[in-house]
Amino acid sequence: MHEYGLMEEVVKSLLAKLEDPAVDTEGAEMEVVLKVGALAIHSAAATRQAFEVLVKGTKLDKSRLNLIVEPLILSCAGCGFQGSLPEGAVDPHEHLPLAPCPQCGAISPVTGSRGVESIELVLD
Ligand SMILES: [Zn+2]
Repeated sequence: MHEYGLMEEVVKSLLAKLEDPAVDTEGAEMEVVLKVGALAIHSAAATRQAFEVLVKGTKLDKSRLNLIVEPLILSCAGCGFQGSLPEGAVDPHEHLPLAPCPQCGAISPVTGSRGVESIELVLD
């Protein structure tokens, strides 16, 4: 599963950070701010689910996930439209994803990031 593998890496790196004795998580509220590209995942819901499964029984068990998904951008050569598309508009497995232009219907290239843009751990 796409999201699971991605989140496995994210959770692993966060837990490594928490091993640092300088990081005091005692009684702290933890928020994980994760920014991923739209083509890195299939759905935000599946990503959240993977996170919940992966943090069970770890130091991140009580943390909250603040997931920010960068949008997909469609650029139409026909009418010049350039704008974001909703989640799931294209299959992230496709190498050169295409979708119909919302303005004129021409099949146009869609771009988006395929990776993790940033991971931040916020302690309150
Ligand atoms: Zn167009």
